[in-house]
Amino acid sequence: MKRDWKSELIQRLILLVGGSACLGWLVGEIAWGLVAGLSVYLGWVLWQASRLAGWLDAEDDVEPPEAQGFWGEVFDSIYRLQRRHHRSMDKLQAVIDRVKDSTGALNSGIIMLDQQGNLEWWNRAAARLLGFRHAYDVGQVVTNLIRDPRFVEYFEQQKYKEPLEIPSALKEDCYLQFSITLYGKGSRLMLVSDVTRLHQLESMRKDFVANVSHEMRTPLTVITGYIETMSDTLLDEEESPKVRMWRRALGQMQEQSTRMQNLVSDLLLLSKLETANQIAEHDEVHLHQLLNNIATDAQALSGEENHNITVSCDPDICLAGSEHELRSAFSNLIFNAVRYTPAEGRITISWHDDRDGGQLIVEDTGEGIEPQHIPRLTERFYRVDRSRSIRTGGTGLGLAIVKYVMIRHSARLGISSQLGKGSRFSCHFPTSRLLHLKNSRAIAQA
Ligand code: ADP
Repeated sequence: MKRDWKSELIQRLILLVGGSACLGWLVGEIAWGLVAGLSVYLGWVLWQASRLAGWLDAEDDVEPPEAQGFWGEVFDSIYRLQRRHHRSMDKLQAVIDRVKDSTGALNSGIIMLDQQGNLEWWNRAAARLLGFRHAYDVGQVVTNLIRDPRFVEYFEQQKYKEPLEIPSALKEDCYLQFSITLYGKGSRLMLVSDVTRLHQLESMRKDFVANVSHEMRTPLTVITGYIETMSDTLLDEEESPKVRMWRRALGQMQEQSTRMQNLVSDLLLLSKLETANQIAEHDEVHLHQLLNNIATDAQALSGEENHNITVSCDPDICLAGSEHELRSAFSNLIFNAVRYTPAEGRITISWHDDRDGGQLIVEDTGEGIEPQHIPRLTERFYRVDRSRSIRTGGTGLGLAIVKYVMIRHSARLGISSQLGKGSRFSCHFPTSRLLHLKNSRAIAQA
């Protein structure tokens, strides 16, 4: 049960005042008796207070001074509080030590940054991968230490959905992957991993595909050549069941070898796009002319299906980029529109300027695509309907090529579709990729 210190102290005070007054009365000086009694008591309180101050000043873990009654209780309570505080500090320290040990054992680097991007703390792996030194680098802005422009842009743009992969500045042939998470009030947690092995595997895969495709080219050309020669020879033969059978067989062989050739050339183009520099060259590509040429080819592809193909584009618009790559991308979109739209359907190809650039839109009134397929369409060999794609001559690589060409031109591919109503593919280019012939002529004349 808790003692009632308030009434005990009041009782003591009454006793002290009463006792001092009695003593004063005995010697005939009540007032002096009271003064003497209270002074002794005050002296005793000050002595206890100085003991308390001395004890609190002393090093940790010193036992409290011996005392009875109220002061003894004060010393004991403070001592208990101190011990509880030490115990929770020890527990906290143990947790911190464990976190430090476990993050120290990680192969990935962890870096804590404050709101301004200054380094607060990092683990051993971060120090190894990035060369940070505790004594010098705490409090430094991270972009002063990792100066690769790709990292600086990634860090400052604050679009951390995808990780960033760049070569290490410290070690040749080493690749690092950075991923950043925002937490608290704008602080950042950065993870760094060594992805050299993955990178090597990925480039082995790319080289393998490129080499196989390249090696297949020559035999395919020879086979196609012979098939054509044999077909031509059959033209002169007299009509008979055997000749008809060979014609049919050679027709199928020609069809399949053309498919293989298309596949090989798409694979080669894709691996070239993947391995080439991230940024496409800046030729002046006349969009109106390019789109009209592709539309003419698309009309030929449509043949008897007689699609209604229209092009609407300002003749003065030019894109800064690779003509060959843009032709491949736009042809894939427009030819797909023809292949996936029933006969007599409408295909609209149009260019629209907007506030932050401009976009090419290819719309069709075809079969459309179910929403669950849309996010996966740009994956290699992903097809909504495999047999239809093969029947219409598709390689399954068209939209993957479009995606890479767009990345290399800092452009965005957008896809929307309604099943049974049609599809809409848009390629949005930033202002930096647009050239207006009128403007450039005006500048040239000035
Ligand atoms: P494919 O050679 O099979 O056409 P793509 O990569 O060009 O390969 O397209 C992937 C898939 O996207 C196609 O198999 C098809 O199912 C779908 N697709 C592409 N364009 C259209 C379109 N305009 N309308 C409907 N489906 C389309």
